[in-house]
Amino acid sequence: MSRNTQAIVDLGALRHNFELARRSAPGSRVMAVIKANAYGHGVLPVAQTLSDAEAFAVTSVEEALPLREAGFAQPIVLLQGMYDDSELSLIGRLGCELVLHSLWQVELLERASLSRPVAVWLKVDSGMHRLGFDPALVRPMYERLRACNTVDRIGFLTHLAAADDRDSDYTEFQLREFERACAGLPGERSIANSAGVLAWPRAHGDWLRPGVMLYGVSPFADGRDERPDLRPVMTLQSRLVAINACRRGDRLGYAGAYTCPENMAVGIVTAGYADGYPRHAGAKASVLLNGRRCPVLGRVSMDMLCVDLRGVEARIHDPVTLWGEGLPIEEVAELSGTIAYELLTKVTGRVRFEYR
Ligand code: PLP
Repeated sequence: MSRNTQAIVDLGALRHNFELARRSAPGSRVMAVIKANAYGHGVLPVAQTLSDAEAFAVTSVEEALPLREAGFAQPIVLLQGMYDDSELSLIGRLGCELVLHSLWQVELLERASLSRPVAVWLKVDSGMHRLGFDPALVRPMYERLRACNTVDRIGFLTHLAAADDRDSDYTEFQLREFERACAGLPGERSIANSAGVLAWPRAHGDWLRPGVMLYGVSPFADGRDERPDLRPVMTLQSRLVAINACRRGDRLGYAGAYTCPENMAVGIVTAGYADGYPRHAGAKASVLLNGRRCPVLGRVSMDMLCVDLRGVEARIHDPVTLWGEGLPIEEVAELSGTIAYELLTKVTGRVRFEYR
């Protein structure tokens, strides 16, 4: 037994979600997005479970290195390309593919000398206005890259800003912009994030780039959600370490933010914001204990939180689910004013990971 919170990672669920992505677009290959330590799940066990993905996508060459060292041989795409010329020799050595979003990156490749040419993806700004080339610049950039002896294959990639909203017409607009920008240019296309995979067949293209859906999180913003058949991969669990018989009027935790309305049992769970449980979930979210929802009471502390045990059979050491199986992380995220992506990537180093 451990005092600490643990993250139980269900690799079978990960596999299930990956296969759902494949089935959603059978004509496309999958570039599994495993950046940010596989959205906090642990990059090597995730990559191992998805080892038949045709490619992996990460943010930087630092994230690619452990994958190559572990022997993964498929293409690894760096979603922000390089940050300066100091990375080029490692990128060349690891054989990473580069997403190019800015002129300075193209110029850098024009000046560079590499042991072997790299494959690149021209990122088109189809409407997100974050990274990428204006559609009018795509053809001239393509021509420059084609003339560049450090460049091998050239593909085209864009990112969707609002695919999670099935009612928005912005995705259609972006698809038109993207198609217009690369019309007539040879090369593979990659557009779809998880929401694109599940809801926008026109965005499937040659390569899918699913991230959050692999981890069992719905990519859709709305509650309407005819929920895709996704299985949660991470269950964050802790334990009950104390049960207090509180009296009517007792005030709980910092600032006494919750006042007991009656005599009641209050459970103390040994997980807090230093484990990655959101402090703002206090007084809104619930935990799952012996199959019952127990509201979180008062403020979440660094190492613990209080829960309402009224109507629940509970004993010291009982496991408590903070999110995951039986308690959707999307719900905890919404109640704490954030998104599941942030919760998953903020689970801290002191949480023990267990892979099943
Ligand atoms: N493609 C790019 C360029 C991204 O930045 C991301 C994630 O942020 C993804 C794909 C995957 O998105 P999602 O996790 O919503 O599937």
